[in-house]
Amino acid sequence: MSNKKILIVEDDADVRLGYQVLLKANHYDTFFAADSTSAVSEARKQQPDLIILDLGLPAGDGFIVLERFRANMNLAVIPVIVVSARDLQGNKERALKAGAKAFVQKPWDDSELLTLISEQLGLPNIVYLSTAKHPYPEDT
Ligand code: CA
Repeated sequence: MSNKKILIVEDDADVRLGYQVLLKANHYDTFFAADSTSAVSEARKQQPDLIILDLGLPAGDGFIVLERFRANMNLAVIPVIVVSARDLQGNKERALKAGAKAFVQKPWDDSELLTLISEQLGLPNIVYLSTAKHPYPEDT
């Protein structure tokens, strides 16, 4: 079975690295976009199996990205998990209404996020938590 492809839309390079470490350890192939415009072009190019989407992005926020995905027949079918530092209040409902499958608050819990991903992909829930620390600056 080939690895599932996950597109991560996130403007913070350290957070992108955190995703990369966690998802690689769990045998996902990762691709990245750092703003809302490249989110759509990368999604078209990579045809990922799942998308992780930040809300606070340059060039239009995550809600605009959700709208653009929804307006594209090929992209509308890809499950999106919104991962944001924004308040659950209001944002979760808005994201789900806009087509997201789940809303996770930052900082995310690794096993919660991995469980959601495998659920969305219809995979058995096998979570591998690397003992390596996330390479956030505050960890060094
Ligand atoms: Ca952000």
